[in-house]
Amino acid sequence: MISIRFLLWLVLFWVIWRLAQGWYHRFLENQQNNKTSPPITPEKTGVMVCCHYCHLHLLKEEALQFGDTYFCCEAHYHADQQQSDVRTH
Ligand SMILES: [Zn+2]
Repeated sequence: MISIRFLLWLVLFWVIWRLAQGWYHRFLENQQNNKTSPPITPEKTGVMVCCHYCHLHLLKEEALQFGDTYFCCEAHYHADQQQSDVRTH
């Protein structure tokens, strides 16, 4: 015959089992949340280029590109053009 004590142990084990499952589930969810945290994308780190005129370093997407050379602003592009005109003439 099954004693009351045995049934109580069974209920106790079941309760512990359910709690352990809950903790394990939350543990897995936390791990997944850590994995899905946004990684640093290469687009955001950016490529640094150097202004051909003043040698200022700036992000490639913020720089003005003329052929193979980069400029921090349009004024420096024109200034560089004038300098090279003086050099060539
Ligand atoms: Zn510049």
